[in-house]
Amino acid sequence: MTQREIDEYIASIPYLSFQQRRMLKEESQDLELWGEEHITDLMPTADELALMQKNQVRSAFNKAMEKIAQMRRNPTDYSTFNPKYDFNERKPNVVADFKAPDRIMGSCPCPKDGELTRCCNLKTLDAVQQCGFACAYCSIQSFYSHNEIKVVSDLGSYLENLKLEEDAWHIGTGQSSDSLLLGDDYGTLSALARFARRNPKTIIELKTKSARTDWLSQDLPRNIVATWSVNASTIAKKEEHLTATLEARIEAARKSVEKDRLVGFHIHPMVHFKGWEDEYAALVELLRNRIDPRNVMMVGIGALTFTKQNLKALRESGRPTRVTQMELSPAAGKFSYPLETKRKMFSFVYSQFPKEWKDNAFFYLCMEDPTLWMPCLGREYPNNAAFEADMKAHYLSKMAD
Ligand code: SF4
Repeated sequence: MTQREIDEYIASIPYLSFQQRRMLKEESQDLELWGEEHITDLMPTADELALMQKNQVRSAFNKAMEKIAQMRRNPTDYSTFNPKYDFNERKPNVVADFKAPDRIMGSCPCPKDGELTRCCNLKTLDAVQQCGFACAYCSIQSFYSHNEIKVVSDLGSYLENLKLEEDAWHIGTGQSSDSLLLGDDYGTLSALARFARRNPKTIIELKTKSARTDWLSQDLPRNIVATWSVNASTIAKKEEHLTATLEARIEAARKSVEKDRLVGFHIHPMVHFKGWEDEYAALVELLRNRIDPRNVMMVGIGALTFTKQNLKALRESGRPTRVTQMELSPAAGKFSYPLETKRKMFSFVYSQFPKEWKDNAFFYLCMEDPTLWMPCLGREYPNNAAFEADMKAHYLSKMAD
């Protein structure tokens, strides 16, 4: 059934309010992404509805909504999700002569007022804009043109002239692209290395899902730290398209450790799916077996979270995914799992790490509700400034080791 036919069906239903039609439309789009049933499988036919009284139509609507709500509450079942993708259309050109716009430095997307999330005040540097990978949940995809990866060609001179704000002690390049997707093919890492040498107390974080290790032959200063975004293997396989396999990412991290580089890991976004406990336990086991914790600077943990725009873009794309098969509870202006689900997932994954990891790495919850810290990590901070100060002290002492 096409989305147009579904739209016509929804438009034909009598007695529903504008708001109810809008809800049906969004749910029908999500059902299409999940590849399970159509909204018409959960509701009476248009002919049947035409003969119904108002209370019967409303009751049919409520039943369908409850069925979908139940699907959202249950852990997502990936065993029945095997869509075929054609990523041939997704061969973005690299635009290498892109001049830095006025502002490529920014801040992480935590809400600035009210400390609704515990935020570490990461600064962001958009050295490369758009990504060649295709993670289903990624918001970067909807910011920029799909067909162009823009590399800031004058990054070196931009950084030379940059007056760093006083609170800019850690900067990430992974908010506008994958930080190691292009390695140093266009001189990005060389420019960052010169900047890092001039600012030895500023940490540059390269967040990646790639398996590139060619950059390890470069003489990068210690304050450049590569971090790998890792996930349960089902999520890596079924939702993080075109990225390196989980094994390959961890192997790249291991090779970095072999060169005595500091590394970090982001277990983010955690997904609540059938089998999540076994698979996140296996992920931690893999890290424990392959990585020497003395070289691990940090482990960030967080859950799947969407902005309204992100959800809209996903629904309009029509590309099959089950990442939206979740409760979508309001979370600091965005949508995420209910706190109780997050509490279960975060405390579980943290409990899987042995003491040696907990003593060496700085574990934190990334952009999450402050009330989750104590039940999940056994510690908390009274405010963002205290969190940031602790993280900074840990990172700097790790660099000095
Ligand atoms: S690797 Fe990062 S930037 Fe690239 S698509 Fe995935 S989430 Fe987005």
